Amino acid sequence: MCLVGKIHSLVLVAVLLGAGSASAFETVVIDPGHGGNDEGTKWYHVREKDLTLAVAKRLERVLQIYGVNTMMTRRYNTYVSLDERSEMANRVENSLLLSIHFNASSAQFISGFESFYDFQTEGCRNIASSIQQSLAESIPSRSRGVTKQDFAVLVRTTGCAVLIECGFISNKAEGQRYATPEGQQALAEAIARGVVRIKPIINYDLPTSMITLGDKPRKKSTHNLPVDNSKKTDPVKKVAVTSTPAKTKKKKT
Ligand SMILES: [Zn+2]
Repeated sequence: MCLVGKIHSLVLVAVLLGAGSASAFETVVIDPGHGGNDEGTKWYHVREKDLTLAVAKRLERVLQIYGVNTMMTRRYNTYVSLDERSEMANRVENSLLLSIHFNASSAQFISGFESFYDFQTEGCRNIASSIQQSLAESIPSRSRGVTKQDFAVLVRTTGCAVLIECGFISNKAEGQRYATPEGQQALAEAIARGVVRIKPIINYDLPTSMITLGDKPRKKSTHNLPVDNSKKTDPVKKVAVTSTPAKTKKKKT
C-alpha cells in the first residue's frame, strides 16, 4: 500500500474513533512578514517585505488547491503590528499561523532555510519539521534545521505557530532566485506540501512514524557564524519577558 493509502486508512480509523490532537488545525493563517514602512531586511534592491508577500500569496493559492482553509494577515504592502498578526490567528478556531520571512547576514555566503516554532507540544514541533523537510526535498539550498524560539509572533499566538526563514537575501544568488516567480512558487509549493503532509497526522493523532520527520543537524563549521544584526531590520522581536537581548536572534552556542 502506498503512503497516501496508508494515511487515508488510518485517518478513517481515527475519525471513527473520534481521535484528535491539541495541535490540530483546520485553517492556516498565512502571515507575510513586515509590510508598509517596515521593509524588513533589504539587499541588492530586494526587499524582504515584497518577497514575503509574494510567497504568501502563492502559498495561499497552493493550500487552497489542496483544500486547506486559509486566511492572510495582510494582502497588500501595509503595516500590521506583531500583536495584530497573532490576534488574527487567535480569533480563528483551530488555526495554524505560518509566518513567512527572509533572513540576512553580513557573512554573505550564508544561505539556507530554517523553521522556528514556540508552542511546547510535540505536534507543533512536528509541523515545523514537516515543513522543513519538505523544503529540504525540493529547494536547492542548505537546510538549517528546526529550532524552538521565542519570537513574539510565535509566543503571542495561542495555537501552533511556525516562522519560516525562507532564505538569505544577503546571499546574492539566493536573493535573486527568490526575486523570481519560479523561486517564489518553489518555496510556496514546498511549504504547502509540508503542511498537507502533516495535517492528517496531527489532526488524528497518527504516529509521526507515518512520515519521516528528520531535523537535519547543523554543521558546526557554520553554526557559530555571526548574524549581522546591524543589517537586519527584522522586527520579529523577543517578548519583554525573555532575558535574551532582543537583537540576538541566533542562539550562540
Ligand atoms: Zn523578517
